[in-house]
Amino acid sequence: MKCNLCESLETIFILSGSDSYMKVDKKKFDIYQCKNCKVTSLQPMPTQEELKKYYPSNYKVYTQDMSPNNTKSKNLTYFKNLIMKKLKMNNLERILERFSSKKINYLDYGCGNGKNIKQLSSKYSNWTFFGYDKFNKNIDNLKTKNVSFYSSNFLNNMPNDYFDVINLSSVIEHIIDPKNLILLLKKKLSKDGILIIKTPNFNSLSRKMFGQHWHNLDIPRHLHIFSDHNLEKILNELEFTKIKILYSRNSAVEVKSFYKLFNLKKRPKIHNIIVNLLNPFTLILSLLKLSSTFTIIVKKEV
Ligand SMILES: [Zn+2]
Repeated sequence: MKCNLCESLETIFILSGSDSYMKVDKKKFDIYQCKNCKVTSLQPMPTQEELKKYYPSNYKVYTQDMSPNNTKSKNLTYFKNLIMKKLKMNNLERILERFSSKKINYLDYGCGNGKNIKQLSSKYSNWTFFGYDKFNKNIDNLKTKNVSFYSSNFLNNMPNDYFDVINLSSVIEHIIDPKNLILLLKKKLSKDGILIIKTPNFNSLSRKMFGQHWHNLDIPRHLHIFSDHNLEKILNELEFTKIKILYSRNSAVEVKSFYKLFNLKKRPKIHNIIVNLLNPFTLILSLLKLSSTFTIIVKKEV
């Protein structure tokens, strides 16, 4: 097979599996890793048409909770946020702060149910927000003066050099041709704009520990899995410069992988509490760059 990212023909078999998360069907897919660029790809690569059925209406992006969790885990989240603030650890927030007094155009590409835009638009009333998600139909009710949502591809009709911040959170792993998308977004990104990409980390400890039970494999919705190293290299080749790489400090992927390893059919009631209690340990993982998810922030090369 040919690698979608670098077109190399040299690949190695990693594992095979089927849709164990949404359980749409039992079709087997193989995961191969490219020997050249080290990105993994699904084989056979589903077509755009085939992919539709793997996103049923109860898939997480539509059901993501917009309301706060129960009180106990809400308190834990509150304390976590407080500690992070005190230690100035939320780097993404700090990077966005740079734009706080400016009038900017913010695009959330693959915005799910609009949660991210909802949070940011309450903080930055001078920004103009654009949300795009091809699968979500329930975001119209979030529309306000500064916010517009699209579910059909509107980007080609937007001017070039238009967006100052483009957020791609949990998106590129779902795209058949990620390089093509990144190049389109680069065209639409302003000269001093930043691109934020959050995606699963193939180099994570949890991937190495849990293997085929790793929650972030999400076969067959995750078509490619990147690592901090190989994505940075690809972005460099596309003429982006790294500003920062952030490593997630949330144990949800580890905890869910653990359930999968032990074939737990239902999440325990105290799931949120377990995740919050284990979060301090993921701080160590993030320092070692072994987190299950990473976020790379880049700007265009000048
Ligand atoms: Zn490759």
